[in-house]
Amino acid sequence: MRWGLIGASTIASQHMIGAIRAAGDVIAAVVSTSMSRAQDYATHHDIPAASDQLDLVLEDASIVAVYISSTNEKHRAQTLAAIAAGKHVLCEKPLAMTVVEAVDMARLAEAEGVVLATNHHLRCSGSHRAVRDLIRAGRIGRVLSLRLFHAVHLPPHLQGWRINDPAAGGGVIPDITVHDADVARFLLGEDPVAVVAQMGASGLGQGVEDSAMSVWSMPSGAMVLSHESFTHPFAGSGLEVHGTEGSIFATGVMMQLPVGEIALVTAAGRTAVPFSPHDLYLQGVTDFLAAVEGKGQPAATGWDGVASLAVALAVRKAARTGIRQVVDYERAG
Ligand code: NDP
Repeated sequence: MRWGLIGASTIASQHMIGAIRAAGDVIAAVVSTSMSRAQDYATHHDIPAASDQLDLVLEDASIVAVYISSTNEKHRAQTLAAIAAGKHVLCEKPLAMTVVEAVDMARLAEAEGVVLATNHHLRCSGSHRAVRDLIRAGRIGRVLSLRLFHAVHLPPHLQGWRINDPAAGGGVIPDITVHDADVARFLLGEDPVAVVAQMGASGLGQGVEDSAMSVWSMPSGAMVLSHESFTHPFAGSGLEVHGTEGSIFATGVMMQLPVGEIALVTAAGRTAVPFSPHDLYLQGVTDFLAAVEGKGQPAATGWDGVASLAVALAVRKAARTGIRQVVDYERAG
């Protein structure tokens, strides 16, 4: 299948170009807002066509799908244009700047009969899928709580719009809390109902938060504790799921690589849990391709992207106002 890249981004360079090619597909073109950046990027990555015009991709009937990894404020318009041109879309998170915008995207994809997927890579990992399997198999009984540890150090080469530009969708909440919202929904199979939160700006950037802590209530009564940051070089990442019959400790698993360890602790003792070490992004592309072929859903659908955004924006509003927020899924269709 032939793809167009919309966005000359780091994530495409580091993971997605390799994943698309590893799936056996072809990257036919790249579009940037800058002609010179598009050309440099195309040369560097051996992509045959480059442009600063979206039409390069949209008017090429041989291009079946697009991967959108521009800055966040561009996702909506680029996705709507691609869907209107009949392309299947794999779009980066957060799907959009507001829930209403994201709903527009998911609805148009449904109306046009194309696949819209959200690139939530963590649910594609062997580790997260193994944790979900343990929960579903009842190995820890009824889930009481989930703790998400996702405080990392933003590498210097990414310390641009993410920490300086609210209009481009900067801030740790649209960047990482949105992933954690997807992790909670994926693992527990239910949607957060309401959130309380605090956030902070340590001075790393300007105008956006660089740390957030929040507590989410789930329909089952389970509670979720979520911590995200750009400023923690040594914190490590992970998650814990605690149930009436056991606990799961997954350390180092909120990553882009298939790394980390999982332990299951029950009355019978502590056991290491094996998981598949497959590439997370290749799995996402593989699931997307299956959906394009009519075989099921992508790993994370457009509606999953709507829901994760709804939770993240509720966290930000709760932190801004100091008031508990009911997550607004009404607009999520
Ligand atoms: P980058 O900052 O690398 O790229 C984003 C955009 O910034 C590019 O599309 C490009 O615009 C512009 N840009 C890139 N380099 C330069 C430069 N040297 N000078 C000026 N502009 C430049 O962002 P990321 O790759 O980190 O993130 C892109 C998207 O992917 C975001 O939506 C982010 O949330 C998401 N993401 C998802 C991850 C995941 O695991 N699912 C991980 C990391 C990011 P143009 O295309 O117009 O040239």
